[in-house]
Amino acid sequence: PISLYLVPTPIGNLKDITIRAIEVLKSVDVILAEDTRTSGILLKHLDISKPLQSYHIFNEHKAAGNLVERMKRGEIFALVSDAGTPAISDPGFLLVRAVLASGLDVQCLPGPTAFVPALVNSGLPNDRFVFEGFLPHKKGRKTRIESLMEETRTIILYESTHRLMKTLEQLAEAFGPTRQGCVSRELTKLHEENVRGTLEELIEYYQTHPIKGEIVLVIAGKSEKQESRNQTT
Ligand code: SAM
Repeated sequence: PISLYLVPTPIGNLKDITIRAIEVLKSVDVILAEDTRTSGILLKHLDISKPLQSYHIFNEHKAAGNLVERMKRGEIFALVSDAGTPAISDPGFLLVRAVLASGLDVQCLPGPTAFVPALVNSGLPNDRFVFEGFLPHKKGRKTRIESLMEETRTIILYESTHRLMKTLEQLAEAFGPTRQGCVSRELTKLHEENVRGTLEELIEYYQTHPIKGEIVLVIAGKSEKQESRNQTT
C-alpha cells in the first residue's frame, strides 16, 4: 500500500491535470500543500474538498517525522506543490526519504513539470541532459557555473525573471557568447514564449523585450568541436 502520493499540478494551464491526479486527490485522507491558499484555489476549481495541511520548506524536517507516524497509523497523504511536480525544485524530497526509510511506500504520479516542455521546445539535443534547478544566488554560484563549462549534455536551469539577464551574461562569459540556448517563458500559459538563439542573441532580445513571468533556461552543452572562449583566447 502507498502512504504518500506525490501529485503533479498544472504549471499554468488548469487543464493540465490528469484524471488519475484528480482521483488520487479525492481518495486520500489529507492533502499536504506547499501553500494551502494556492492549492485551495485549485482544489476548489476541481471540486475537491479535503483536509489541507501545510508542508513547506521551513517545516520540512520537523513535519516529516510527525507525518510518518501518522502514515504508520494508516493515514494516506497526497503532497502537492504550488505548481508542477512536487520535490522538483520544491519541498518533498525529505518527506519521500523519511517515508521510505520507515519502510512505507511512496508513489509519484507523472504530470506537469516545467523542464520537460522547455527542453523539448528548445530544439537542443535531448537524448542526454542535465537538470540543474536554480543556480545558487550568491555563494557557490561562480563555482557551479564553472563546473558546467565542460558539460557536453544539454543544461536546464530554473531562473527568476529578475536574475535572467545576470545569468545569461555570466553564462555567455563562461561558455562563450555563441553557445546556443533557449528561454522558455510562461509555459502552458496564454503568453507562452520560447526564444531560441545564441546567448548573445538572447541577451540582445531581452534588452528590448520585457522579462515577465516564469522562466526555464536551456543551454546547449559544449560540443567537441566548439572550444570554450578561455581556450581560444
Ligand atoms: N515543481 C516545479 C516543476 O515541476 O517544474 C518547479 C517549481 S520551482 C519553485 C518554480 C520554477 O519553475 C520557476 O521559477 C520557473 O523556473 C519554473 N517554472 C514553473 N512554471 C513555469 C512555467 N509555466 N513556465 C516556465 N517556467 C516555469
